[in-house]
Amino acid sequence: MAKIPRRKCTNKDCRQWFHPVRDGQIVCSYDCASAVGKEQTQKLREAVQRKEQKQQREVEKAGRQRQVERRQAVKPISYFIRQAQQAFNEYIRFRDRHLPCISCSRHHDGQYHAGHFRTTGANPELRFNEDNCHRQCAPCNNHLSGNLIAYRSALIQKIGQARFDTLMGPHEIPKWKREDYVRIRDEYRAKLKKLKQQEAA
Ligand SMILES: [Zn+2]
Ligand SMILES: [Zn+2]
Repeated sequence: MAKIPRRKCTNKDCRQWFHPVRDGQIVCSYDCASAVGKEQTQKLREAVQRKEQKQQREVEKAGRQRQVERRQAVKPISYFIRQAQQAFNEYIRFRDRHLPCISCSRHHDGQYHAGHFRTTGANPELRFNEDNCHRQCAPCNNHLSGNLIAYRSALIQKIGQARFDTLMGPHEIPKWKREDYVRIRDEYRAKLKKLKQQEAA
């Protein structure tokens, strides 16, 4: 039988050269075999532990996700309408951020709203119509009921007569459901984000 060449002991605390007496011998002595064995067992135990911890985290995460979904499921549709309207309005305010109030043409330091020309109460189908909603100062929006006479002429100037006529014309009443409001909310959040990224670039 050919002599097996000498090897270095795989026990990291030993690392001595030794002459193996059989193939597959990787340690120099029983002591080193037992040390390496212990280390492997320890590593294996740690790997199992890590795997269990990971599974536990995943279970907890799924549980939290289910909780969020359950909480969402019992929310009334008005909650989703409000969320969609907030996202839309925020987009409109940012879109018009360099423009003065659509109604009184003033730039001022006060609060600005997203003011609908045709009200969401009378025309809910125009809630999320971008031609129907523009940056408006709080006084015009709150105290002058939108200051609509001035709004009208400024709006025609801004979007043109044709789009104004379309806006004033008949509109289909959409049958929006909860998932439509969620979609609209997400769309306008994404549009706002994109606009802000464009500005930052
Ligand atoms: Zn050894
Ligand atoms: Zn105003």
